[in-house]
Amino acid sequence: MPGTELFGAEERKEVNDVLETGILFRYGHDAQRKGHWKAKEFETEVKKITGAKYAHAVSSGSTAVATALAASGIGVGDEVIVPPFTFIATIEAVLFVGALPVFAEIDETLCLSAAGIEKAITPKTKGICLVHMCGGMADMDAIMAVVKKHNLILVEDAGQAFGSSYKGTSTGLFGKAGSYSFDFFKIATAGEGGVFVTNDEATYNAADYYSDHGHSHVGAKRGMEEHPILGFNYRIGELNAAVGVAQTRKVPHIREINRKYKKMLTEILSKTQGIGFARIADPEGDSATFLNLLLPNPETAQAVVDAFNEAGIAGFDYWFKNMYHFINQWDHIREMRTASKLAIEVLGAPQDYQNISLPQSQEVIGRLISFGIRCTWTEEQVKELAEKISACVASVMQKQMV
Ligand SMILES: *Cc1c(COP(=O)(O)O)cnc(C)c1O
Repeated sequence: MPGTELFGAEERKEVNDVLETGILFRYGHDAQRKGHWKAKEFETEVKKITGAKYAHAVSSGSTAVATALAASGIGVGDEVIVPPFTFIATIEAVLFVGALPVFAEIDETLCLSAAGIEKAITPKTKGICLVHMCGGMADMDAIMAVVKKHNLILVEDAGQAFGSSYKGTSTGLFGKAGSYSFDFFKIATAGEGGVFVTNDEATYNAADYYSDHGHSHVGAKRGMEEHPILGFNYRIGELNAAVGVAQTRKVPHIREINRKYKKMLTEILSKTQGIGFARIADPEGDSATFLNLLLPNPETAQAVVDAFNEAGIAGFDYWFKNMYHFINQWDHIREMRTASKLAIEVLGAPQDYQNISLPQSQEVIGRLISFGIRCTWTEEQVKELAEKISACVASVMQKQMV
């Protein structure tokens, strides 16, 4: 993904600010830090991009999801509806706050569908951990109607959707809380890092305390302040945050190039019979980090993947059956194997995880091939890629006709 492609002088400058003072910790040490508060600046930059009222940087996208769930009041025994297509951290976060994941169907947006969510609701459902996959976004109008109708807590794992929006509202801000990842593979990176966002003051405070052992961060001496709640150490360090500051400032630029290239690719490829695209709930708000192709059926998609491999374009990060983002590949999740006991073992599983049937999701993922869009491509490279993709699909379609 693009952020790492543009690592340079700006990131080094921010990191150097920290190295010169040696204050690697985000709190206190006011006199020695010479005015450098990188975690706070990182939060400010994220607020500028998203329009969030509150942002809080933490150690990873995974801990940001866990923080969002906990700060929203989701905990032991609560059923939380999750998608079967996501990065595994979403499911881990639900399990690690003691909640019980309930898998529901996605649709051609590659995200949970309103109908899928509604079907999975039981009297124990407390919330939804909605994931905006592949840089796009879920169908928010329909989903918000279900959230309101059933009075559910919505948490958005926008780990892959920083910089994307739906009808003018940033992903991450539709529900009680949201989270973004800034790991090495995302649109912007902090090396490792995540950011929690909300528009609700009480939820923000809970996240602020929760991600730092319950410290209230009010009062002179660290450790001697109030501790409103229990928490854990999910803090980000100043070095990572410094990288995050420089990278987040580059997101509007990256997004503009991504959109241009995605448009070029889409225009060329839509002329080829057999190539379809994942549905983008709001094309204006797409961060355009991925081009998501939907082939007519899984068999064709498999043949196209083989053709891509042969043509040497498999190097572009496409996701297919061998990628780690779909429930089929999660043996350890389906069997709930962990180092220690999960709440689920005590409280009972809400679903037979080993035999989950999600035919619609299976069908969509079976047809999906994704390409990461790179902001350092030239226009010639984009055209060349489009032509190669077209030629591969055309030859597969031709063979299937005879
Ligand atoms: C990357 C990602 C995460 C986890 O983020 P890390 O920073 O790697 O911990 C969570 N959810 C989604 C959807 C992701 O893509």
